[in-house]
Parts: sequence; C-alpha cells; structure tokens
Amino acid sequence: MERDYPLEKVRNIGIIAHIDAGKTTTTERVLFYTGVSHKIGEVHDGETTTDWMEQERERGITITSAAVTCFWTPTYAAITDKSKKHRFNIIDTPGHIDFTVEVKRSLRVLDGAVVVFDGVAGVEPQSETNWRYADEASVPRICFINKLDRTGASFEHSYSTILDRLTKKAVRMQIPIGLEDHHEGVVDLLKMKAYYFEGEMGNKVIEKDLSSLPENMKADAEKYHAELIEKIVEQDDAVMNDYLEGKVPDIDTLKKLMRKGVIANEIFPVFAGSALKNKGVQLVLDAVVDYLPSPTDIPAIEGVNPDTEEKDVRHASDSEPFAALAFKVATDPFVGQIIFFRVYSGTLAAGSYVYNPRTRNKERIGRILRMHANDREEVKKVYAGEIAAAVGLKDTITSDTLCDEEKPIELYRIIFPEPVIQLRVEPKTKADQEKMGMALNRLAQEDPTFKVSTDPETNETIIAGMGELHLEIIVDRMKREFSVETNVGKPQVAYRETITSTAEMEGKYIKQSGGRGNYGHVRIRIKPMDQNVDIDDLPKNVKREKGFEFINTIKGGSIPQEYIPACEKGFKEGLDRGVLAGFKLENVSVELYDGSFHEVDSNEMAFKIAASMAIQDACKIAKPVILEPMMKVEVVTPDKFMGDVTGSLSSKRGIIEGMEARGMNQAVKAVVPLSEMFGYMTSLRSMTEGRAGFTMEFLRYDIVPNSVATSIIESRK
Ligand code: GDP
Repeated sequence: MERDYPLEKVRNIGIIAHIDAGKTTTTERVLFYTGVSHKIGEVHDGETTTDWMEQERERGITITSAAVTCFWTPTYAAITDKSKKHRFNIIDTPGHIDFTVEVKRSLRVLDGAVVVFDGVAGVEPQSETNWRYADEASVPRICFINKLDRTGASFEHSYSTILDRLTKKAVRMQIPIGLEDHHEGVVDLLKMKAYYFEGEMGNKVIEKDLSSLPENMKADAEKYHAELIEKIVEQDDAVMNDYLEGKVPDIDTLKKLMRKGVIANEIFPVFAGSALKNKGVQLVLDAVVDYLPSPTDIPAIEGVNPDTEEKDVRHASDSEPFAALAFKVATDPFVGQIIFFRVYSGTLAAGSYVYNPRTRNKERIGRILRMHANDREEVKKVYAGEIAAAVGLKDTITSDTLCDEEKPIELYRIIFPEPVIQLRVEPKTKADQEKMGMALNRLAQEDPTFKVSTDPETNETIIAGMGELHLEIIVDRMKREFSVETNVGKPQVAYRETITSTAEMEGKYIKQSGGRGNYGHVRIRIKPMDQNVDIDDLPKNVKREKGFEFINTIKGGSIPQEYIPACEKGFKEGLDRGVLAGFKLENVSVELYDGSFHEVDSNEMAFKIAASMAIQDACKIAKPVILEPMMKVEVVTPDKFMGDVTGSLSSKRGIIEGMEARGMNQAVKAVVPLSEMFGYMTSLRSMTEGRAGFTMEFLRYDIVPNSVATSIIESRK
C-alpha cells in the first residue's frame, strides 16, 4: 500500500497561546474552514471539538493535547486543485499555566507552530514561556495577533511587545484594516492586496486592491511593504545584491525566501485578525502551507543506538527503519487507553510489533487511529512524518521511543520539570484503597509531571504536580473516571535539598560474625553537579540523570564490576532521603573512586547499604541547603491598587522585577516563593475589590533563607 499523501504536503503544527488569547476559538475556525467541523462551537457552549474531557468542558480550558487531522487547499488555489491540498495534523496545546509542560511535550513532535496573541494585551507571561520552549526546540513559528475587534485592541502595540519581549526577527506580514468595531479585514503586505471575509462564518475570502483604502493606510502599507521586502531579501545574498541595485524579486521568489527564513528561525511573520469575528484565519492557514516546514524540511531526528550507545539519526523517509516517539498517553472514551505517536521514519502496519528500547520489550500495536475533529478513522498503516494514535500498547509511557527491533534507536527523551507542589490523599472508604492506587498509577502514566509516592514514615499517599489546579483536576478525574472519592490534605511546597560544597567519605557495611557475612566498602567524593556541561561532552565513565551524576573511577577492581550497579542504587536511595529535612537531594555529583571487597562475604545488598551511608554522611558535611520553588508572578491591577499590590508581594519575600502599563491597568512582575503564594487569589481579590488578577508559573529553585530553613526543618520534626 502506498502513502496517500506526499510528505511535502504534510504540516504537523500546533497552535500555542497564553490562556484566553483565543487558541480554542482559532482552532474551531480552522476546523470549520477545513471542512471537518460543520458547526462552530463557541467556548461558552462547552461544545468545542478538541475538548472532549468532561471537566475541560466545565472549566473551558483544554488540558490534554489531542492530535486532529484536517485538510487545507490554500485560498489562492482552486479548491478543485488536488495538487495543492495539504494535510494538517494539529496538535492541541493547552493554555493554562499549570500545563505548560503539555506545550513542551507537543513542541517536540511539531514541525511548526502558530502563536496566537491577544490584540489588547500583546505578549503575556505565558507567551514568553512558550516562546522560550519553542526556541529551545527550534520550532519555526508564525504569529497571529487575534482579537483585533476588541475594545482597546492595537496591532501596533501587540507587534511592538513581540519585538521587545520575544524576538527582533518578527516582521509584519499584514496590517489590520480598522480596529475594534471597525475591524474589517487585513492588508497583505507581500501581495499588497486587501482581504475581506464574507459569507457564513466569513467563509468567503474577498481580494481587493488597495485603492479604496484611506490615504494614511495606503502610506503605512507602502512603508511596511518595503520593510518586509528588505527582511526577506536578507535571506539570500544574491537576491539582496540585486535588490540593492534596484531589482525587486517577484512574488514567488519572495515567498520561497520567506519560507527559507521561517524554517531557519530567521523570520517570524506576523498576521492579524479576529478569530471570533471570522477575520484572517484562512490566510494564516495559507501561511502554514507557504511558510511552515513539512517533515522533510526539518533536520533528521537524533537519538542513540540502545545497544552501542552510539549517536544515530533517522531521516523523514518511508524507506528508513521505523522510529516513532510516543508523546501522549490518553484515555479515549470509546477505545480506552491510546498512545499518540509521531512517526519520524519508516512505516508501521496495524497488528505488527514495535520495540521499546526503554523496556527492552516488544509490544503489539492493535489498531492505529487517525483522529479527526468528530470521528476516528482506522488506518492500516502509518508513514514517516505522520501523527496517529495506537491502541493496545500497555507498557508504553510518554517520551518512549517505538522502533524496529532489528534497527533499534532511542530518540532523545522529552525532559519535563519536576513537580513543585504536593498533597496527601486518602480514599473516603478503606475499601477504595486499592482502586485509588490503580487510578493514580494510570493518571501518572498519562502525565509525566504528576508523581505519586508514599510517605515512608506515615505510609500516606502523596501526589505531586505543577500547581494547585493541576492536582485539583487529578482528584476530580479520580472521582469521575475511576469512581474513587478522596479526602485531600493541604497543598504543600515540594522542597528540595542540595549541597554547596565538596566532601570525601568512606562507607562501610561489614558484618562478619559466623556463617555468611556482609561486606561492602566504598570511598567517594561528592561535589555540586556542573549544570553547564553538555551531556554529550561527558566522558564515558560519567552517567548523568536529572539531578544526579555518577562517576566511576574504580581502578584495578578494588570493587568488582558486578557490585557497581548496587553502589549506584545505594547513592540514589541515600539522596532520596535527604539530610536536612527529608527532602530529595538534587544536583549531587558522586565519584566512586575506591573501596574493597571480600571474596565470600561481599554481596549487592552490603554495597548498596555502604554506598547509601557514605553519601548521606558526605552530604551532611558538604554544606547542605534547602531549595524552594520560585514562581514568576504577574499581577494586573488598576492603578490605584498598585501600592497595595507591590507591598503585598514584597511582604511575601517577593522581588519586584518591573511594572508596565497594560491598557487601563498596570502589570506588576515579580519573583515570589511558591510557599508564600497559597491563597493569594483570595487576598488579592479582597485587596483590590476583585479587580486585579494574576498568573504564576514555575521559574526555578532557589536556596531558602536561613530563618525560613530553620522553621521548615522544625516543622518536619
Ligand atoms: P484560549 O483560552 O486561548 O483557548 O481562548 P478562547 O478561544 O477560549 O478565547 C477566550 C475568550 O476570548 C472567549 O470568550 C472567546 O470568545 C474570546 N475570543 C476569542 N477570539 C476572539 C476574538 O478574535 N475577538 C474577541 N473579541 N474575542 C475573542
């Protein structure tokens, strides 16, 4: 069976935005115009096609990222021209701050993104975070300044916030015709044409020349047209030279160069419109076709051969060995657990086996589904560059590679942030204990930033996540999907510990009194881990994981190879227990350089215990400290409460980083410890007559001040 779509006509894209910027509405319009969805579901109806989880409907936010397939023929081509038809796989990304991790996850499997901005606010804190993630992943982007029909909307202001806060490489591709109530359409600065949207849901795109526009708009269009052309010709020296000599390239050349620039992350074109008022979205879809990459335009995906640990790559081609990345585990109401995966190379037929290098096992794929907005299509085979969902994989988790057993590769894993907040849960009835465990495991499998553990002292179950809302939703899902009712404790900060100095230590576990004894003996050095080293540059004897580095410099078999893994395990266990207040020790580098063994009495357990004691004792003298999560907070408040707001943030050990006018309001940016932010919504409301709002997201871990450390340690005793 041949592939039904040439790779060059595939676009794997995401629509990313700050919450409320209009991502859902834009996605709805996209699905409408692409003909999949025949009815527009407004967010407040709770009918959006991508949000199928119940509580998402209630909350009106998209939490899970589902992949939706649709088709688009650009507006400048005849709708009957099959050669111009493109397949879009849209990976839904949520906007809420507690779920930025979902954005990060999706970015790994996208080839390009449309970033949606609110035309009143411009760049918002979360746009910055998402932009940063996209930079890290080198994802080409086009920008869409939405909501230009809103009171207070300003394309120019929003555009300037993109330039100031995100990138100097942005350039106007369009300017709006009219704003607020007068927002009618857009001017395309490349073609120098005006576009209007008529008919049902603006379904008909009308092209006009600029003659009917007011003089000042025509002048603006001329000015920005020149600016755009200059930016584009910069992408090619020869064209640039011609241009300087007065030869202006034709539209096709300009579009080609624009495409080159966008794919190279050298240009970020900015579009304008209003999704709600059905203006501009189709032209953004045209731009997805014209400027965002197909799977063949992006570099080959990298990974390592799990057998040899050598670097390896896979190109986007059906004839290469099969390699795919599982990027989302979800529960589908109709078929149960499904795994969304992106095929990077090769093909996969339903019913065949895939190899998972993490588990070193083969698993059988039952059915393969392609998800459309309103239905699921079963497909027999998927090809390089595609995104689909698999049914029947029991042992696959987010970020696993699925590949050909004969030609194995492990693609680089997606790195997720650690949870910063935790709370205790217990089932309302004892009988539900087991069911709760099952439910939590299932949820943890779906969500890599959600962790479940047991308090070793009290035996209570602790769940940890990225924010209060995140955990609230987990508890909610336990009730709805697994019928487990729970009592939950107060949310608490997930502190960490680390060392600030070096130490050497010896650990011995020797018991040799009659019969078979125990003998484990290690000598170690520890130091804070150097974060600035690229993992690829580390020597072979260094093993690095998140927050932990193990260096093996044992010479002459003073500890036999067979006991080394036990030592490593012992170190990890020792670090997990912490030394100050029982929080996990992080960013510790341990070198195992010497030790001794006994022919008869040595065993794995003895070495594990010796290693764990050694690292605990070493950390105690290596100036340990407690770390706390710091949050990036932005409060938007009317002027007259500015003093109260900044005062309250300062009293929370917050550091005010800046303020700026935001429409009629002021936006205050600060960095504040998470422990001080519980219940902030309520106090902010009462302080500002309910007129201020805030957003917050995890920034980094910082050392807590001494006085605070003392009280944390006291409270844990
Ligand atoms: P999301 O949180 O980014 O998914 O944003 P939504 O699409 O849910 O939009 C948030 C709110 O803004 C909803 O009430 C929408 O109706 C509204 N909205 C979205 N796009 C526009 C627009 O272009 N103009 C106006 N005035 N409102 C919009």
